[in-house]
Amino acid sequence: MKVICPLCDKIEYLDDNSFQAKRLRNRRKHMFLCRKCYERIEVKTKERHATGKFRLYSVKKNSSSLI
Ligand SMILES: [Zn+2]
Repeated sequence: MKVICPLCDKIEYLDDNSFQAKRLRNRRKHMFLCRKCYERIEVKTKERHATGKFRLYSVKKNSSSLI
């Protein structure tokens, strides 16, 4: 089956019997991402998670306590 990546409009061909093709046919709203975009998003998500964790540990300094 032919699938188009919505992010880069790249056309990829999936084996009709592959797990991914079956999943896409069952859930038509399921977004297909080509391997490049998938990896790019995965990296971004991991980076965001890392930043989020980092923010959790940062402490706000209260400089108005001198008044
Ligand atoms: Zn793509």
